[in-house]
Order: sequence, then structure tokens, then C-alpha cells
Amino acid sequence: MEKVYLDNAATTPLDEAVFEEMKPYMLNYFGNPSSIHSHGRQVRAAIEKARKKVADLLNTSPSEIFFTSGGTEADNTAIRCTVEEYGVKNIITTGLEHHAVLHTVEMLAKRGDVNLHLLDLDPQGRVDLNQIDELLKKDPNTLVSLMHANNEIGTLNDIDAIANLTREHGAIFHTDTVQTMGHFKHDLQELKANFIVGSAHKFHGPKGVGFLYVNHERKIHPFIHGGAQERNMRGGTENVYGIIGLAKALELAYSHMDEHRKHIEGVKQYMIDQLKINIDGVEFNGTSADLDNSLYTVLNVSLPPSDDNDMLLFNLDINGISASGGSACSSGSNVGSHVLTALGSDPMRGAIRFSFSRFNTKEQVDYVISKLNEILTIRV
Ligand code: PLP
Repeated sequence: MEKVYLDNAATTPLDEAVFEEMKPYMLNYFGNPSSIHSHGRQVRAAIEKARKKVADLLNTSPSEIFFTSGGTEADNTAIRCTVEEYGVKNIITTGLEHHAVLHTVEMLAKRGDVNLHLLDLDPQGRVDLNQIDELLKKDPNTLVSLMHANNEIGTLNDIDAIANLTREHGAIFHTDTVQTMGHFKHDLQELKANFIVGSAHKFHGPKGVGFLYVNHERKIHPFIHGGAQERNMRGGTENVYGIIGLAKALELAYSHMDEHRKHIEGVKQYMIDQLKINIDGVEFNGTSADLDNSLYTVLNVSLPPSDDNDMLLFNLDINGISASGGSACSSGSNVGSHVLTALGSDPMRGAIRFSFSRFNTKEQVDYVISKLNEILTIRV
């Protein structure tokens, strides 16, 4: 078997059609989009066309889409600029957020700019809307930052309900949609969020490019100062071919979403079934094994407790299988998964995140299961 790539939540392979769309902007159309001559204007027009494409897909206005270097920058911009612009004094979030959010809000709290409220979670990592409501009643001068889907355990937040609740209180809502962008439909006329984000490499686009949606009702000041790019919101010559690729990748993702989803769900369900048949005591983290209530690209698996669990990913890698993961941190250690640690998972259980794309097959799952069986048999 050739190599098996099951780490699509980390990054996805670039779609060839996306590359073809980008190529002319690497080779032929090299003008600086800020230049006023024809070489520049041609490229500027392509960027604005890409912006319009993204805005149309998300059912919003191009004036609310700002291209960034990726999800991390978009999250940082939304959070840091909101706190500064609106004098926000509280941030409500959870310990399960991606570090792009968690480390940012922790830094703001450490500096004394905000009070941090980490929500209680159920064992699957779900929040309770009543708790958010209670906190917002106490002080609506608050930024709520909750991810749409957790990148490790696939648990989904009901961002429509959270957005409506936040809005009722006059607070601000940022949601890290990096893992759902291109995999779920986002309709920004329906979703009342102030900020959502995207990162092209999570939906078969290029790395190092993403975007931030800023709802027009709550504008923010620039995060990166410099030139007048992105309508004065982000200085720096644009990642032109990245932006072209992002728009194409999102377009392809939207036009085939149902078909890709059906395929990926079939592969994921097959893996769940095979793991249950083959591995005694296997467990699934978050809601990832519940197809109707999870990020369908992610399956987080806990294997039976063993001292050898540290070697799991390494042993899979030796067999050409790329996955990721990490157990909860054992006491005194700060390596491992901050998500599983926050959920109180057993550090002795090896956790592996398998994450799928449309390129994965059931035959690959069979291969992974056979190798997992070998690895687990040898160590007993
Ligand atoms: N947010 C989430 C939920 C992610 O999964 C990631 C990527 O792993 C990011 C943010 C960061 O995105 P980027 O790699 O584009 O900076």
C-alpha cells in the first residue's frame, strides 16, 4: 500500500485545479496589485474578483472579506482589535480552542486587558448556552470566542444559537470556523456572527493564506500597519496567487460539498465500525463518532491504556500512515493534547486523530486497521 494520509485536519493536499488557477499569477501576472499601471491593475482586478467569489459563496458583501496569512492571523486580528476598538473587558471562551485563539486571549488576560471566563464543558466538550447567557447578563461588554468545530475531537458548537444569544445581549461574537470552512455551508445572512475565519489549506487550497470576515456593524482598526492594502486593513503586498487559489478552492468545495461529505462520511463510518470490531476497549473522543453531530472529517480514537502509547504515531508512521494526536498530558508534563487534558481524559490512553478528505478510501482504512492490529498485538 502506498502511503496513507489521514491528517487532513492539519492540512489537505492542494487540488490540481486550484494549482492551475494559481499558476498564471506566479508566472505571467506578476505586477504589484498596488501599482497603477496595467500590470498592477490586472492583478488588482483578479484579487477583487477572488474577494467577490468568496463573498458570494458566503452570501455576504466583498467589503466584509479581508485576506490574511491564514487562520491564526485572522483569529488574532478579530480578538485583539475587538478588545482594543471596543474596550471589551471580558472574553468568554473554552480551554478547547485552537492555540491561535487560546494563547491570544491568555496573553490579553495576563496583560490585564480582559477577564477570561472559561466555560464549563460536558465530557464531549460541549458548552451550555445557559452559562453563556448568565455571564452575558452580568456584563455584556464581552467578546464571545467559540470555535465552530474542534480540530482535535470534532465536537461542534451551535454557532447560530450562540450568535443570536450574543447579539441579544449586545456582545460581540467571533467564531473560529477554520475546520468547517469549505466543509459546511456558512450563510452570513443567517449566521449573526461578527467575525468568522477561513484558512485555504484546510480545504485543498494553498498554505499561508486565509481570510477574516468582519461584519459591517462592528468595524475594527488594522492589525498590521503599513500600506493601504486590503482597504487599509492589512498592510503588505498581497499573497496574490494564494488569494486566487483560496477563492478557487472554496468555489470547488462549495460546488461539490454534498458529494464530498457523503464520501467522507462513508469512509469515517467504515473506520468506526472496523475499529469497534477489531480493537477491544476502543473509545472515541468528543462527539467525533456521532456522524450527525460532529465535524465529519475528524475521528479521534482512544486506544486501551498502555505504557507504549507514546510510540503509536511513530509506529503508524513507519508503516506509511500519517495521523496525528496525543493523549492528555500526564501530571507535570505540558506536552500532549491541551484539548484532551481539558476534558480530563486518561493520559494512559493513546489518542489518535484520524482526519479524512475526499481522497481517502475504505481500502486505506483496511490497511490502517491491519497495521493497528499488528502494532497492538506486538506490544501486548
Ligand atoms: N484554528 C483552527 C481550529 C485550526 O485547526 C487551525 C489550523 O490548524 C488554525 C486555527 C490555524 O490556521 P492557520 O494554519 O491557517 O494559521
